[in-house]
Amino acid sequence: MKIAIVTDMEGVAGVVNFDDWVNPTSRYYEQGRELLTEETNAAIRGFFDGGADEIVVIDGHGSGAINPLLLDERAYFSRGWAVYHQFGLNDNFDAVAWVGQHAKAGTLRSHLTHTGMPIVIDSRINGISVGETGKAAMIAGFYGASPIFAAGEEALEVELKELGERIHFVSVKRGVTMDNGLYLDTDEYEKHNLGAVHIHPKEARRRIYKGAREAIEDFIQNRCKFPPVCPPAPYIMETWYRKHGDKPAFKTIQRYDTDLMKLFSAPREVLSEGEYELPYEFVSIEEQYEKQ
Ligand SMILES: [Zn+2]
Repeated sequence: MKIAIVTDMEGVAGVVNFDDWVNPTSRYYEQGRELLTEETNAAIRGFFDGGADEIVVIDGHGSGAINPLLLDERAYFSRGWAVYHQFGLNDNFDAVAWVGQHAKAGTLRSHLTHTGMPIVIDSRINGISVGETGKAAMIAGFYGASPIFAAGEEALEVELKELGERIHFVSVKRGVTMDNGLYLDTDEYEKHNLGAVHIHPKEARRRIYKGAREAIEDFIQNRCKFPPVCPPAPYIMETWYRKHGDKPAFKTIQRYDTDLMKLFSAPREVLSEGEYELPYEFVSIEEQYEKQ
C-alpha cells in the first residue's frame, strides 16, 4: 500500500496570512514549515498505523515548505519534477492524500484561498472546476491512484466531496470571508481571505492522525468506494484570470487529445474580456449575511 501525501502551506493550522508565513522571506516562514511538517508527520503516523507500506511526501508549495530534517524518518521526500510528470504522481501510488491544503479561488468562507496563483479566478478541466486539490487528484487518477484523505481549511471539504464522496477530511481552521471576490484584481484578492479561526496546532495533529488512520483503514476495506478521479480524453483546460496592474482580465484555453500530463504545457489560446463568460457569479457579503 503506497501513499502519496501532497502538501501545501496555506491550509495549515496557525498559518495566518501570505506575507508573514508562506514565502522564503516571510518572518514566520521557518515556523510555518515546522507547523506543516508536523501536520504531515501526524498523517504519516496515521497511515503507517493503518496499514501503509510506503509513503512519499510530495512538497507542493510554490517555494517548498517541508523541513526534511523534521520529517518522519520512514517517509520519502519528493521535490522537483520532470516535464510531463507533475508532482511525480506517476510513480505507482495506490492512493493520494493532502495536508495543509486550501480551497480553490472564489470559495466562500475560505482562508488564503487561491488556485495556483492569486491571479486565477477559476480553472476547469473538461468542464469540472478544479482547485489545486482537484488538479492533483486528476493527475493521480490518470495513473490509477485514488484520493482518500485531506487535511486543511474547512471550505476545502465542498470541492473534496465533489471529487469523491468517501474521501475523509479533517478541518484545522475556518475562514470567515463572506463574499467571493469575483471582480477583485490580483493584489486585492491576495488580501481578501485573511480572516480565520484556527484550532491549536497540537489538536490539529491529533485530529489528522485519527483522520488519516481511519481513511486508510476504510480504503483497505472498501477500495471500490474510492474511485480514481479520471475524466475521459480528449482534454480541455479553461482558465480565467483577474485583472493585474494595467493588464486586463483574460481567459486561456488549452487542449490535448490523449495525455492529461501534456495538457498542462499545451499551447494557450488567449481570449480577452468580452470574448468569454465568467465561470461563476458574484456573491456579495450582503447576500451571505442575510443567509446567516
Ligand atoms: Zn496552494
